[in-house]
Amino acid sequence: MEDRMGEHPGNVESEPVRQATASCETEDLGLSGRQCITPEPLDPCTLVIFGASGDLAARKLMPALFNLFRNGGLPDRLRIVGCARTPMEDDAFREKLRPAEEPGSPGAGGAWDEFAARLHYQAVDYTDSASFDELAAFLGRLDAEAGTMGNRIFYLAVPPILYELLARRIGEAGLASEREGRNGWARIVVEKPFGHDLETAMDLDRSLHESFAESQVFRIDHYLAKETVQNVLIFRFANAIFEPVWNRRYVSRVRILASETLGVEHRAGYYEQAGVLRDMFQNHMMQVLALIAMEPPPRFETDWVMDEKTKVFRALRPFPIEDPYENLVLGQYGPGFVNGAPVPGYRQEAGVGEDSLTPTFASMRIYIDNWRWQGVPFLLTSGKRLGRKVTEITIEFREVPHSIFRNVLGERVAANRLTLGIYPEEKISLVFQTKNPGAALRLRSVTMDFHYSQNYTGPVLDAYEKVLIDCIRGDRMLFWRQDGVELSWSFLSPILERCEECENRGRMLRFYEAGSMGPEGAFDG
Ligand code: NDP
Repeated sequence: MEDRMGEHPGNVESEPVRQATASCETEDLGLSGRQCITPEPLDPCTLVIFGASGDLAARKLMPALFNLFRNGGLPDRLRIVGCARTPMEDDAFREKLRPAEEPGSPGAGGAWDEFAARLHYQAVDYTDSASFDELAAFLGRLDAEAGTMGNRIFYLAVPPILYELLARRIGEAGLASEREGRNGWARIVVEKPFGHDLETAMDLDRSLHESFAESQVFRIDHYLAKETVQNVLIFRFANAIFEPVWNRRYVSRVRILASETLGVEHRAGYYEQAGVLRDMFQNHMMQVLALIAMEPPPRFETDWVMDEKTKVFRALRPFPIEDPYENLVLGQYGPGFVNGAPVPGYRQEAGVGEDSLTPTFASMRIYIDNWRWQGVPFLLTSGKRLGRKVTEITIEFREVPHSIFRNVLGERVAANRLTLGIYPEEKISLVFQTKNPGAALRLRSVTMDFHYSQNYTGPVLDAYEKVLIDCIRGDRMLFWRQDGVELSWSFLSPILERCEECENRGRMLRFYEAGSMGPEGAFDG
């Protein structure tokens, strides 16, 4: 039984939170709670969202932009141009995205109308270069009218099959250039997946680079923008006491868990091609692994941090594909109950074949061949339709080398455990042993908790808000660099090939009940 020391006031002392943001003045728009949330004034710009009629734009990008607007996190001179094939007027586009007007909802208070005045819509035919010339002319007019100064972000919220074509069209229309007589900067944002394997990832990169320099390319991994994921580096490198034990001498195992209660929802078309390894491991899991395992860079600067992450990917021990079963469990959810409600199995989901062998769960044990981590297993687990939605990193420390209590308490003393919680609780917890009060000598595992929101009342950015702000600021720290993408694929591609060989597909897959925590034994490591 664990006690929660953190629940008692006074157990965790904290300094007043030091705001990373400088104070700055914002135009008074009469929006309650509007605060300045960026350290410096943001460049005026136009954000062009391709695929603006789609799911990502409606569910993530627009709510994030609206929230930023309400909190003073956007440049005053900003225009958002939605682009897609569907013909639509500006007003219809604004109404389509308008949030529900319930009391307390984001739409309440008239802020939406003020935000919506910055929204425009331009129908685009991706197959017709003239359509992009029209877009270029429209953006030019906006620059003149709204003072956006030729700064543009092109966000590709479209199916990945369109990335290469769109990047080319943008380039051909002269919109990618930061030089050649055009004022302002240009950036392109791509969402995962970055290719389907190493070869296609390299093809995509070549296409992007036909028009854009690497410094203009923003490959999003919104996981990295979660506050608590960013906090991993602060925790490790702004405290002197953890780094000395952050290695093979003291750590026995590291677990990274990202479990979801949701199934494949309406994205079966994509997921059937991807599966859990491409959907979660190639990007999110690898990035979290890198943050946990990397060496401290000399300075907190984008390329230096990226360099250290890249070294981790380079040090990954090639996976023993000749015998993958030892270190890899793949699963697929069957019917079951999640939160008390019946849910279908993966094969019964719309758009999934009744004999599909796509894995929706994977648990993988990997090793990093360097001095710090030699021999320490990293257990990466992710799956859909599991019993709980949890994202956390657990550092399991070694047991004491010799127990002086063994004559009274037995040989084993439970080891210390440090958990960096990302969801549902954003927290840091340390489990350690204390004496149970009373005459008898008994141990008690207690947990010291720090909750991330503790003592902080300022605006909290969600992952997409942070990503969008960083795109506008031109800060690539939280994005993928191509060498990392390629190294991650180099590690995973042989595993994928092996798992996808016809004779292995069915053999490797274990079925699990929706609402469980995955196939039997998968968490044993
Ligand atoms: P959608 O399937 O909703 O597509 C977005 C828009 O693209 C559609 O509204 C449609 O607009 C256009 N489109 C769709 N298919 C085609 C096609 N074959 N040819 C031309 N245009 C097409 O995608 P999402 O919004 O879900 O995702 C966008 C990108 O973001 C994808 O790369 C996805 O992998 C990635 N992503 C999405 C997440 C999500 O939660 N949705 C999460 C993480 C990444 P129209 O017909 O009007 O042109």
